[in-house]
Amino acid sequence: MISGTNAIGSKSSKKGNKTFKTFDPKQNKDTEWTFYEASANEIDEAVDLATNAFKVYKDFSGAKKAGFLEAIADEIEAIGDDLIYTYCKESGLPDGRARGERGRTMGQLRAFANLLKDGSWVEAVIEKAQPNREPMPKSDIRKMLFPLGPVVVFGASNFPLAFSTAGGDTASALAAGCPVIVKSHPMHAGTGELVSSAIIKAAEKTGMPNGVFSNLNSSGIEVGQQLVKHPKVKAVGFTGSINGGTALYRLANERDEPIPVFAEMGSINPVVVLPSALENDGDAWATKYASSITLGAGQFCTNPGLVLAVKGDKLDGFIKTLSEEIVKLEPTCMLHPNIYAKYNEGKKELSAQSGVTITADYKKDTNANTAKPSILKVSGADFLANTKLHREVFGPFSVVVECENTSELEAILNHLEGQLTGTILGSEEDLENNSGVVDALQSRVGRILFNGVPTGVEVNSSMVHGGPFPATTDPRFTSVGTSAIKRWVRPVSFQDWPNKLLPLALQNENPFKITRLVEGEYTKN
Ligand code: NAP
Repeated sequence: MISGTNAIGSKSSKKGNKTFKTFDPKQNKDTEWTFYEASANEIDEAVDLATNAFKVYKDFSGAKKAGFLEAIADEIEAIGDDLIYTYCKESGLPDGRARGERGRTMGQLRAFANLLKDGSWVEAVIEKAQPNREPMPKSDIRKMLFPLGPVVVFGASNFPLAFSTAGGDTASALAAGCPVIVKSHPMHAGTGELVSSAIIKAAEKTGMPNGVFSNLNSSGIEVGQQLVKHPKVKAVGFTGSINGGTALYRLANERDEPIPVFAEMGSINPVVVLPSALENDGDAWATKYASSITLGAGQFCTNPGLVLAVKGDKLDGFIKTLSEEIVKLEPTCMLHPNIYAKYNEGKKELSAQSGVTITADYKKDTNANTAKPSILKVSGADFLANTKLHREVFGPFSVVVECENTSELEAILNHLEGQLTGTILGSEEDLENNSGVVDALQSRVGRILFNGVPTGVEVNSSMVHGGPFPATTDPRFTSVGTSAIKRWVRPVSFQDWPNKLLPLALQNENPFKITRLVEGEYTKN
């Protein structure tokens, strides 16, 4: 049952007088559910509760927090088909995608639980004292990572489960020892409420302090802004538009006490097609890319929005196949009329730029909010001269750039903004012969791929889902995979602290049996 209320810790609350509804993009009408936007009082209550919960939660053992995360995964599973139904209704995404994303969400929670059980992620480092060192005695100094405090997480429109209420940001922050207040995404507030009830049940079952998690609704930017400005909030996780992410980043930096905002924003994910890929596999790659560009109606942050290659007959053949194949695929419904409208605006604006040729544009009639795929072609010189063409058009859309030669290709890569991914198609020999291109691409991205498609992001300990601005606001971190926990912690050193009063992870006896760096050597001793 969806009540439309906010969750302030374990309490349901509807004190605000503004309401909104979610939208069913396939039916092109509002859903039956009404949601109460969080009031300023409710925001304060949630943050105060999180601040109190932090005092206890930060000191819980890894095993106890792992039990909480595993219980969240179990409770999400226990919601069953109601969750799948609500997800599909509010997003227009198909049943299979909903089930896959639910599995991914539970998998992420369990992966963080395993990280906590192992415990070594706190990066304990010990330098022992040398009282007799000349000319100065050396102190005993021990360092480890500690949670920052209450974290605000903004749900993402395009991943109602895996990047929203109990998604990667929430899972990693809870794992780090930070209470979480979610600013639910207004497009899927019902899905968010169901997941939030699972988190609250799990918290109660595993003895977590009230306020370790809250879920606040809103349909405008005010609630999110108040949360980011709240002096007791210590960090922010965001996935969405460049405008939204940078606005929140600025707001956080204007506070009396600035706080980190980890925003994952726009990316056009350049794909460089080198000569042997065009020569040997041009048609196969073009067909594969038609699928990748249209996957999930192109609503993926890793969607390949830019293809670069040196001009010639083989590239002409690639563009022809890509353009023919992309219009053979059945177009699919987008998440919301606003996203659909923005897609059409973006497509229209880029199509009208000087030097642009439209090589594919789906012509048949479609259902409401269904995105018609499109491919544009432009010369390297026109692309370099016009940064409008570098913009993300969120949807099944890509620009192919015909470069004059490899130097121009390299120059374009050097002028690109930061990206989540960059892909090279070709042979190993191509890689060796184009080291300038490879270096230029690597310097702009968080993940560089060889002979693949960027859509599809593994959740594991080696994944980097990040990149230079504006892909993210901080290229040193990833928002996917277990390393995402590093965003919510800071190192603290203890100097000459009594052993029995040190955090357990730093005590001589190593009671958690974790791997630590002791006098420059990794050891469990
Ligand atoms: P969005 O407009 O950035 O909104 C994301 C969340 O941030 C929403 O909860 C929104 O609140 C809030 N927000 C936005 N601007 C804000 C501001 N200035 N101050 C405070 N809060 C703010 O993104 P979206 O709704 O998910 O989708 C819109 C567009 O974002 C898409 O068309 C696409 O271009 C882009 N997008 C990109 C990615 C990616 O991974 N690259 C993913 C998703 C979306 P309200 O909705 O309540 O106003």
